[in-house]
Amino acid sequence: MAKKKKATKKAAKKSAKKTVKKSAKKAAPKKAAAKKGAAKKSAARKPAGKKSPAKKSAKKTAKKHAASAGVRRTVKKSAKKTARKSGRAAKARPGQMVFYFGKTRTEGDVSMKEIIGGKGANLADMTAIGLPVPPGFTITTETCAKYYDGGKRLPHGLMNEVHRNTAVLEKELGKTFGDANNPLLVSVRSGAAVSMPGMMDTILNLGLTDESVEGLAEATGNPRFAYDAYRRLINMFGDVVMGVDHEHFEHAFDQLKLKYHTREDTDVPAEGLRELCDMYKAVYEKQVGDVFPQNPFKQLELAIEAVFKSWHADKAISYRRLAGIRGLMGTAVNVQSMVYGNMGEDSGTGVAFTRNPSTGENSFYGEFLINAQGEDVVAGIRTPRPTSEMKAWNKKVYDQLMRIKKQLEAHYRDMQDIEFTIERGMLYMLQTRTGKRTGAAAVKIACDMVKEGLISEDEATLRAPAGDLTQLLVPSFDPTAKSVGKVLARGLPASPGAAVGRPAFTADEAVERSRNGESVILVRKETSPEDVEGMHSAAGILTSTGGMTSHAAVVARGWGKCCIAGAGDIRIDSEGGTFTVGDELFGRDDTISIDGSTGEVIKGAISRVQPEMSGDFAKLMRWADKRRTIGVRTNSDAPADAQRAREFGAEGIGLCRTEHMFFEGERIVSMRKMILADGEDARRAALDELLPYQREDFIGIFRAMKNFPVTIRLLDPPLHEFLPHDDESQAALADALGAGISAETVKQRVSMLHELNPMLGHRGCRLAITYPEILDMQVRAITEAAIECTMEGVKVAPEIMIPLVGTRRELAVLREQAERVIDEVKKEHEFTRRVEIKIGTMIEIPRAAITANEIAEVADFFSFGTNDLTQLAFGYSRDDINGFLPDYLHRDILPIDPFQSLDQTGVGYLVELGIERGRSGKPDLKIGICGEHGGDPSSVHFCHRAGMDYVSCSPFRVPIARLAAAQAALMDR
Ligand code: PEP
Ligand code: MG
Repeated sequence: MAKKKKATKKAAKKSAKKTVKKSAKKAAPKKAAAKKGAAKKSAARKPAGKKSPAKKSAKKTAKKHAASAGVRRTVKKSAKKTARKSGRAAKARPGQMVFYFGKTRTEGDVSMKEIIGGKGANLADMTAIGLPVPPGFTITTETCAKYYDGGKRLPHGLMNEVHRNTAVLEKELGKTFGDANNPLLVSVRSGAAVSMPGMMDTILNLGLTDESVEGLAEATGNPRFAYDAYRRLINMFGDVVMGVDHEHFEHAFDQLKLKYHTREDTDVPAEGLRELCDMYKAVYEKQVGDVFPQNPFKQLELAIEAVFKSWHADKAISYRRLAGIRGLMGTAVNVQSMVYGNMGEDSGTGVAFTRNPSTGENSFYGEFLINAQGEDVVAGIRTPRPTSEMKAWNKKVYDQLMRIKKQLEAHYRDMQDIEFTIERGMLYMLQTRTGKRTGAAAVKIACDMVKEGLISEDEATLRAPAGDLTQLLVPSFDPTAKSVGKVLARGLPASPGAAVGRPAFTADEAVERSRNGESVILVRKETSPEDVEGMHSAAGILTSTGGMTSHAAVVARGWGKCCIAGAGDIRIDSEGGTFTVGDELFGRDDTISIDGSTGEVIKGAISRVQPEMSGDFAKLMRWADKRRTIGVRTNSDAPADAQRAREFGAEGIGLCRTEHMFFEGERIVSMRKMILADGEDARRAALDELLPYQREDFIGIFRAMKNFPVTIRLLDPPLHEFLPHDDESQAALADALGAGISAETVKQRVSMLHELNPMLGHRGCRLAITYPEILDMQVRAITEAAIECTMEGVKVAPEIMIPLVGTRRELAVLREQAERVIDEVKKEHEFTRRVEIKIGTMIEIPRAAITANEIAEVADFFSFGTNDLTQLAFGYSRDDINGFLPDYLHRDILPIDPFQSLDQTGVGYLVELGIERGRSGKPDLKIGICGEHGGDPSSVHFCHRAGMDYVSCSPFRVPIARLAAAQAALMDR
């Protein structure tokens, strides 16, 4: 480890120098004199956040290693062949709005996700590698942007392109759109560059009219099927395109079922469905004020527009916000010839993952329904059958699907999420995309794919999103506690995790109660895209219907939220706010525990245990450590946390907030005594009481962090934070203080310490300037602890960190004082062995970043306190931002909470400036970050690029930071 650390440090320095050098080179052709200023200028012009060569090099890495996968080569070759056959080489024309895919030609490819969306790009790609894909065409995301830019009008020329491509489609299939005999029918679906399950609209069976429905009945010999398709179109078109409430159609269907004395839709005969089409058209006409369009191209035009509009539907906006999806142009629209899974018992439809998306296990994992349309599976309305049962139904199709699984994985070199339909025994692929997976599955799949020779270790390291490791670091149920818990019901283990909470029965209720600090489990029959806010705020999700690919399951897995789907024994009464299992009734006040890894719903609150890092997780971490060039430390102020962080791979402590050590038990009384002391002597007496506590804490931490540096920050918060503010507690404090101090005196002193703006008031290094004895005590405790540990053979490397420095003089004065105390203590203990105690500062005030060259003269190290730096750079109070942040996020005024993810353009600029100036006179100055951003993956990337030596974050984020740092290094290659 020590060896690696050295290497890490060296590499970090190299990269730091590289950053400065690179930017200097760019900005200043005239060598040395300009060098210093040039780096500065270049930083000003081009903040670090913008200069990432990341994507390019990631691609390079991927490409390099692609060559090693033999399987891939084969597929590529055959892909090329097919591509040639289908005339794929065609280039995009300037301003091209529509891209065709089919046997005639295929214009898009997988690299064009930004333009033709993920779905469109993969449909083109699958066609090109020879998979059975119904042909069609894709309208670009740029066209969607143009639609909005032009005041919500379809761009000029679009429908001409649509007509031209439809003609190609007609020719390829030998059918005509809207034909009275054997009509071509299409589906219209959205498809953005990033997948947003169920968030936008789909319309099926487009092209059916009063005339063509007869042709379809004739051509298929199946009038029931034809009228069923037509009534679905009128319903979907009315609902999605014209905004007619689905209830109106439902009502009409109920009336019809009464007339035919049936309860199931499937029992209504063909003539009944024909009648239903007339009823639906009447509903449509009444609600819309116009007849259902009988011109198929008019239908198509309106449907395309509806998909564009759905990009700005509330549910889509919420989803993008919650999933952190930003910067997309809009949605593409896929117009594809229809195939039918509802043409009888030899037809069906399904969705599947090429590997288990919850655990990562390499087994085909899907569900299908016989005689059904795709939407029935995803909507979670009918509970589908597992694909393992497909073999018995149609072995030929099953075997073909297994071959396609292999082919897709070899081609995309990743786990895929597919949709397929079987029409009268013929298999068609309707979609493939990179499958969403849990953090655990991501790690396992990456490791397995290395073993299988599909990807390299570098790629595997890049594969798992660093933030998703959180899911592997959350607790699971304690097996002993769980074994005695009462299992109420079992559902599908849709997304792992261990959630405990009380039931909430609507999304709004879940949001509201979670906001009030309650832990809730959202209990629903099924979820829909409208529920995403509630799903997001709940601790876990439990549904009584739906399968592993239902909306609830897919969305929860994407977020890594605990979810059980299809727990059929639970009967929910949302209006009454209860659910029953057998004859047991549960309401809003009853606590339940749900285990998303096993699907068990358990009565009461089950205790949880901490996770362990082993197996594939540990392997991935080893790969990450080999690749990262910056160190990872932890923010920790207790020996147990420090120990935990070490187990997670922390290489030292980057921030020990000493104020946290003053709250426990007796300490707070001594602390309050010190704060309320009348004069220096009384203050020193109280500090003497605190000294042994501090010393013991430091000894514990040094032992836990043996051989690693420990940065200890001197007292930082405004003193009033330690004092009680209500009468009762003040009276109790007066009692505890004794010495005849009255409650009134306590009250008076507390009010004297009151500040209007405490975060900008008497805090940080200002405390040590006005009360030097506080610094004396803390530095003494650190030095004595260091001496004691050294004597017992524990190697220590303490670093004293002065907070909130804004001028060189502040640090110079306090440094001198600290050095004096260190010398005094060493002399007192006759300690002559070498223990270096470094003295440095936090950079958390903009002025400190700007004058970093001066401050560095008296600092051994810098640590960027980006919490305060963000607060002071934006002028947003870190404690009050929630008053306006939701609106700022909702209206896209801020892309993300700047206290969570570093604002790389503004605050990041100050960081870069501080690094550049700090190192201008002291090239070896050690620099890290200890604000919350140190555990945020995109901020870690920034820190790597900015040339920091290390990041420091809370213990549970240490593995995330390790992986993110490795990914940053790989992307930088
Ligand atoms: C900071 O400001 O970033 C920091 C780490 O200090 P604190 O959060 O304790 O103010
Ligand atoms: Mg701070």
